[in-house]
Amino acid sequence: MTGVEHVRVAIIGSGFSGLGMAIRLKRSGIHDFVVLERAGDLGGTWRDNDYPGCCCDIPSHVYSYSFELNPRWTRGFASQAEILEYLRGTAVKYGVLAHIRFNHEVEEAAWAEAAQCWAVRTTQGRIDAQILVSATGPLSDPSIPRIPGLEGFQGTVFHSARWRHDHDLTGERVAVIGTGASAIQFVPQIQPKVKRLHLFQRTAPWVIPRFDHRITPLEHWLLRWIPFSPAIVRSALYWALEVRVVGFKNPKLMSGAERVARWHLRRQVANPVLRRALTPDYTLGCKRILVSDDYYPALVQANVDLVTDAVKEVRSRSVVTANGTELEIDSIILGTGFKVADSPIAGRIRGRGGRTLAEAWKPSMQAYLGMSVAGFPNLFTMIGPNTGLGHNSMVFMIESQLNYIMGCLETMSARGSGTIEVRQQAQSAFNSEIEAAMKGTVWTAGHCHSWYLDSTGRNSTLWPGWSFRFRARTRRFEPVKYVVS
Ligand code: NAP
Repeated sequence: MTGVEHVRVAIIGSGFSGLGMAIRLKRSGIHDFVVLERAGDLGGTWRDNDYPGCCCDIPSHVYSYSFELNPRWTRGFASQAEILEYLRGTAVKYGVLAHIRFNHEVEEAAWAEAAQCWAVRTTQGRIDAQILVSATGPLSDPSIPRIPGLEGFQGTVFHSARWRHDHDLTGERVAVIGTGASAIQFVPQIQPKVKRLHLFQRTAPWVIPRFDHRITPLEHWLLRWIPFSPAIVRSALYWALEVRVVGFKNPKLMSGAERVARWHLRRQVANPVLRRALTPDYTLGCKRILVSDDYYPALVQANVDLVTDAVKEVRSRSVVTANGTELEIDSIILGTGFKVADSPIAGRIRGRGGRTLAEAWKPSMQAYLGMSVAGFPNLFTMIGPNTGLGHNSMVFMIESQLNYIMGCLETMSARGSGTIEVRQQAQSAFNSEIEAAMKGTVWTAGHCHSWYLDSTGRNSTLWPGWSFRFRARTRRFEPVKYVVS
């Protein structure tokens, strides 16, 4: 007896992927699993990103599990609080709460060759697992920019994913750095209360109308009582979003959507100088397309100043721009995104020979179907390399991966196998396919820098095409692509 707990599956993270994995295991009659969660609550990115105005930029009816449709969403685009409530309710309903080990941060997970299992060291002790599912998500660790002097700032500074709710911004001079999906949601919320808002824009984003609406009692009634209506609405929304792939694959077709975005800008910003500064200079879709109806109206307010000069340095009570202007600042909010290609968990997972996933992924991350990496037996990375979407619900991709992983577990049980490991050849062939599919898309031909690209300039984050193709590829586990022993 070693005294070390042994489970069949250890899942890292309790966001949409981790909870989805736990629920699928439970529904298949597998109860021998744990979910290791570093925080004291579940929800992943929907727990951490509780900044004012945080809501989903994908319509609510497609942003839920297919097995747990929610006819009760209150808005076309659900708020963070509502999504978190949905995740909590779903975890309770499917009985997975008792499997979650809160405040268990994974410090290291190492493949133990002799025991043929993963030795997972957490902040609260060790657990061995036959299968390890890394479900930490690509948007979990904030990216803090290296700005000279930032550490010495004497005011308040925080990242949008670690919002300081204990700090009142009322009447303050605030600098917001970044104009991505997060910033465009919280800027309209804080603008009315701050004294002065200096918004540092490095690249102007494309913003299209959101057309959000409160779901009426009649709609709720229909969704509740008309058979299959939530599924029909979900399906209609899925296909409406999916057709956008045509534009991603044919950048010239993006000009139609660009016209809509320019019209949106013209309608909401009368000042031609401001409008010019807010007009993007790259093809729409090359970075994430932003949806908002209240971002531009906030920027035209008298207390807002759009700064297009770079931040040169931060001093104890001010921010200095590249042209030498010094702005007195009380608080700095970093809307600067996440560590996507250099996620810290990759440095903590050690496969065969002690090599970390981060080392295997240098200079560019690769995995078979975004899930399996040669040299890392019995490991699945949820929303791993090349499985992100710029156009549709990530829950669809997550559920596709869950189908595949469940198929793998069934195969292992049926064959009495202890380990599976993707063949290097299958992984390389898959990545050559990705490379070929990426050619000519808006991400490679659109001439812009985005978090989709890694330091080599390769798009190692997005799935380059139709999401239903990914669903078809993951429908069944393929033992021939793996060494099953
Ligand atoms: P982001 O899209 O990566 O945006 C980061 C912003 O910070 C960009 O404007 C970037 O400018 C700027 N920036 C980064 N480093 C900088 C520096 N050193 N100096 C000046 N500016 C800098 O991050 P995010 O807004 O947090 O969103 C990340 C992703 O989260 C989104 O793409 C989306 O997938 C997801 N998200 C989803 C929702 C939703 O569904 N509700 C909401 C928020 C976020 P450049 O453009 O020049 O790089």
